[in-house]
This record gives sequence, C-alpha cells and structure tokens, in this order.
Amino acid sequence: MPFSFFNTLGRTVQAFEPLQAGKVGFYGCGPTVYNYAHIGNLRAYVLHDILVRSLRRSGYEVHHVMNITDVGHLSDDSDDGDDKMVKSAAERGKSVLEIAEMYTQAFFNDTDRMCITRPTVVCKATDHIADMIALIQRIEANGYTYSAGGNLYFDIAKMPSYGELALLRLDELKAGARIAVDVHKRNPQDFVLWFTKSKFENQALVWDSPWGRGYPGWHIECSAMSMRYLGAQFDMHAGGIDHIPIHHTNEIAQSEAATGIKPWVRYWLHNEFLVLDKGKMSKSAGGFLTLQKLIDEGYDPLDYRYFLLSGHYRSQLQFSWDSLTGAKNARKSLLNTIREVSRKAPPSSSFPSSFASSVPSRSLREEWGEKAAKYGEAFNKAIEDDLNTPRALAELWGLLKDSTIEPQAALAIAFDMDRVLGLGLSVETAEAPHDESLRQEIEALIAERAAAKKAKDFAAADKIRQSLTERGITLEDGPGGTTWRVM
Ligand code: AMP
Ligand code: ZN
Repeated sequence: MPFSFFNTLGRTVQAFEPLQAGKVGFYGCGPTVYNYAHIGNLRAYVLHDILVRSLRRSGYEVHHVMNITDVGHLSDDSDDGDDKMVKSAAERGKSVLEIAEMYTQAFFNDTDRMCITRPTVVCKATDHIADMIALIQRIEANGYTYSAGGNLYFDIAKMPSYGELALLRLDELKAGARIAVDVHKRNPQDFVLWFTKSKFENQALVWDSPWGRGYPGWHIECSAMSMRYLGAQFDMHAGGIDHIPIHHTNEIAQSEAATGIKPWVRYWLHNEFLVLDKGKMSKSAGGFLTLQKLIDEGYDPLDYRYFLLSGHYRSQLQFSWDSLTGAKNARKSLLNTIREVSRKAPPSSSFPSSFASSVPSRSLREEWGEKAAKYGEAFNKAIEDDLNTPRALAELWGLLKDSTIEPQAALAIAFDMDRVLGLGLSVETAEAPHDESLRQEIEALIAERAAAKKAKDFAAADKIRQSLTERGITLEDGPGGTTWRVM
C-alpha cells in the first residue's frame, strides 16, 4: 500500500511516488536560531520526524536535510523589519555567531528530548554563502533579476507561474497590491536575493559578492542548500503553513528560475499552527512557551509529543494546560497498560525483533495471526493515509485493550507501531535503567559510536545515535564522555 499525502501544491491527496525507487529526498525548513524554539515550532519538527520515521519503517532510504538560519531572516518574511539575529545578539550582548551556536544547541536539546530523529544533514546558512551566490548568478543569467537601491531583487513578473503553491494569481496581486514598504520593488511581492545596502548599522555578517559586499536574502538559503544536498529536483519539502505564501513560494520561484526544472519539489507538506487560547504563538512577539517551561511545570517532553500526535498535522491545534494534562494522563495510562501486557508476556518477548530498525521480514499476519495483525494493518493504513496519527494512536490503544490478543503479539506490534510514534514504549516497558542486558547493549553502542567518531566516520556515529533516539534513548556528550538516559 503506497503512502498518500496532501500535497499543498495542487491541494489534493496524492499517492506518493519517489523520483528514485526506494529513496526519498526530504528537506524540512529548520529554525532561525535567534531564540529558543517555542512549542509551536516543535510541532513542525514532530511532523518532519513522523514523516521520516514512517517512510524509513516502510523501507525507504530517507535523506533528510535541514537548514539552520543563522543569517538574513528579517522579522517580516518579505524583507521588512529587523534582522532577527542581529537584534537578538545586540539585546544579549553577544556576537551573532555566539547567539546562533547557543540557540542551535538549545534547539537540538529540545528535539532530542522530544525523541525527534536528527536529520541526515544539518547545514548552516553561513557555511553555504558560496552556494547561494552561485545560485543567484544562475537566476541572474536567466534574466529573472533587477538591481535597485543597492539590492538585487527577484522579478516575479518574469515568472508566470509565480504563486502557484499559495494559489496566488499574478493579475490579482497586481490589482490589489498591498503597498510595498520597499520603494525599490517593482512589485510588492518581489524579494531580495542579495542585500548590499543594509538597513542596519554595523551589519555583523557580510560577504563579498558580484553585487557588492553584503548578505543573502532569507529565501535563497533553502533553495541553495536543499539543491546542494538533494539535487536540482527532489521529493518532499515541509514547513509550517505560514511559509506557504512567501517563503516557500519564493523558494520555488528562484529554484525553478535557476534550473528550469518544474516542479522543483514534488510534494509539499505543511503543518497547521499550534495556537494559544489568546491566539497565535510567535517567536518574534516574545512571551512564548518553550519545552523547558513545560518541563518546569512538571510535564515530560513526551507528554507534549503525545499531545501533538493526538491531532492531525493539518488541523489547527489549540494548546492549553488542561489539554496537556490530558495528554500526560493518557500517556501515563498507555505506559501502565503496556507494562501490564508486558508482565503477562513471556520474558523473552520484552524485546521483540521489531525493536530493531529493519523492516519486519514476515508479514504481521504470518507472525501474529489475523486478529492481532488487524490492528497493525489498520495502524499502517492510518499512517500511510497522510500521516493520520490520531487514528494510529487509536489503533495502538485498541490493540492494548483487546484482551483476546496474545500479550506477546500485542507487545511486538505495539513496539513496531512505536517506531513511528516515538513514545519510547519499549524502553519504558523494560524500565531500561534497571535492565542489565539493555544497559550493556546501549553501552556497547556508545563505545561503537565513540570509535566511529575517532575514526572520523561521522555518518556511522550519527546512525548509531539515530537508532538509539528511535528507541527512546538520548545521548549527551560531555567532557567526561557520553552519558545516556531514557527520554
Ligand atoms: P522559524 O524558526 O520561525 O523559522 O520557524 C520554524 C518552524 O516552525 C517553521 O516551519 C514554521 O512554519 C513553524 N511554526 C512557526 N510557528 C508555528 C506555530 N505556532 N505552530 C506550528 N508551527 C509553527
Ligand atoms: Zn526554508
């Protein structure tokens, strides 16, 4: 059964066909690291995680690329407002790069705690300025740019398909044009590819370019870095719905202008917003909730993960402390139920083969019989149907509550489902810190990872970390070596 996804490009549910059989190239827009991620941002990364885990569990080799925006993102997505990084650095009395490093670490600390699998490639904008310049040169050579007031702009009038993703119509845009704040823009929707006239004094990060000393516009980084790691055309791209009308629309315009390949990306997935009782949650408005705040209030990061999974990613989700408490109680009850089932199962079944990260070699029916397999199959169907996690969770509950299913079968299927859900069920069940054989296994993997790092085989080291994350175990590297804990 193939996956199907709601593709924002075209606004229909479409069967998923990767460009290359068995492989998926996926780019998820990463954080702008001028502050902590708020819990709304984390919703976007949980979607990326569920997508990647689901595809991998079905046997796809997923190449997942994520950027870190450490330059160029103004507080308004369409080139207006303050430079987010510069403003934050000034407020905190640090350099822009210090700020970027600090919040990048904080970001991964959050995502690790939420059992979010790390991307295959994490790339910083400041490390890819040459790629951005090269891409802008191609866009310029193809006639899609103009210079005005010291900046280089993308001319949307040259691209009749501009705005397809967001269902924008060029003629309507012109007729009802909002007032452009930037007088140099021919069209209000034109956007800067390269700034040389900084509006900000003492612009911290600038580079030489064919257009003068300056810095890139925000959108170009995602085009340049995704194409660098995934090729001129790739399978999937994701981000929050706020990115549809400007950021992703502009990414598409400039990428297709550079390569002439259309569609640049074949499937676009967008998560709806997490909203507070009082309305939108935004990083730049301040006063937002962080994962640490939830922890300080007595919640586990996985309570929040459970809360997010209980809604479909395309539905707006309203955050309240009461609903988080509901998720906390539900997760607690899930863990109690699974522990009960595990006590009834023979001891050898606490770590079934599905715990490993390979695709089960036998079908669920062959292995566990029709009745138990029914739940596993319904779960898979829910996930394959545009990542319907609330339905998938209901199947997990149905399985564990069905007293006619052999505990061993229930446990194995639940653990296999958890390779997608990432709730750390198998580890919780084993009460990992007290389980000697698991402890030894984890420590052997940590030693293997240390050896791989020493041999500069970072891909192998990352793979080990990832396999542990998928099992609900987080690693922390410190001066005294690597420690681990159950997430
Ligand atoms: P940023 O760090 O601001 O670039 O945002 C990181 C990701 O979070 C992007 O994919 C945004 O679209 C997404 N995002 C921002 N606010 C929310 C929210 N309240 N709910 C869900 N996703 C959000
Ligand atoms: Zn992006």
